[in-house]
Amino acid sequence: MASLEIVEQSGNRIVVKLKGIPLQYANALRRICLSGVPTFAIDDVVIIENSSVLPDEGVTHRLAMTPLRTDLSRFVEPSVCDCHSELGCSRCRVLLMLDSGSSDATRTVTSADLSSEDEMVKPVSPNIPIAVLAPGQKLKLEAYARLGRGSEHAKWNSASVSALTEGNDSDQHILTLETVGSLTPAEVIRTAVEELEKRLGEFHQTLATIG
Ligand SMILES: [Zn+2]
Repeated sequence: MASLEIVEQSGNRIVVKLKGIPLQYANALRRICLSGVPTFAIDDVVIIENSSVLPDEGVTHRLAMTPLRTDLSRFVEPSVCDCHSELGCSRCRVLLMLDSGSSDATRTVTSADLSSEDEMVKPVSPNIPIAVLAPGQKLKLEAYARLGRGSEHAKWNSASVSALTEGNDSDQHILTLETVGSLTPAEVIRTAVEELEKRLGEFHQTLATIG
């Protein structure tokens, strides 16, 4: 009988014991935890004004790599959203805005300056630097975030660490997981198990059609 038991949990880190799960499935679960669970990331940026020395692409890259808190109960990936719209809708994308205004002093624009239209989908940390502005320089932009997977681009990785080690018994494996904060470790594992079940279900269906 397959089972999953939490050994240790604190903050963004969790250690679970997998019992009676074949190595290849445990390994598939490890991989899904890393890059197969959807998270929010900024995917499209409209720069309205950028007088900083950082080029637009630099600003866009920093925004893309900013982990965003993710709510999988209210949002879907654009590829499966009913809107079938390239622009997206309130179920498949979130708008974040940034307007630095201008200041007489040098200052650093950080993730805390991003204001999200959704109260939950916002940067995991307020301290991520985006650009340094000299006196009089401005940064103003609109950023669109959507759900995606790390297998498509690293900015959607759901974990920074996902490692499998041997347990005490031959049928035990230990999975150590550290998330980037978009989802809790428990959310990542739960979603990864569902995803693995779905993939195995599809696999069994394919086998059935082969007969
Ligand atoms: Zn949509």
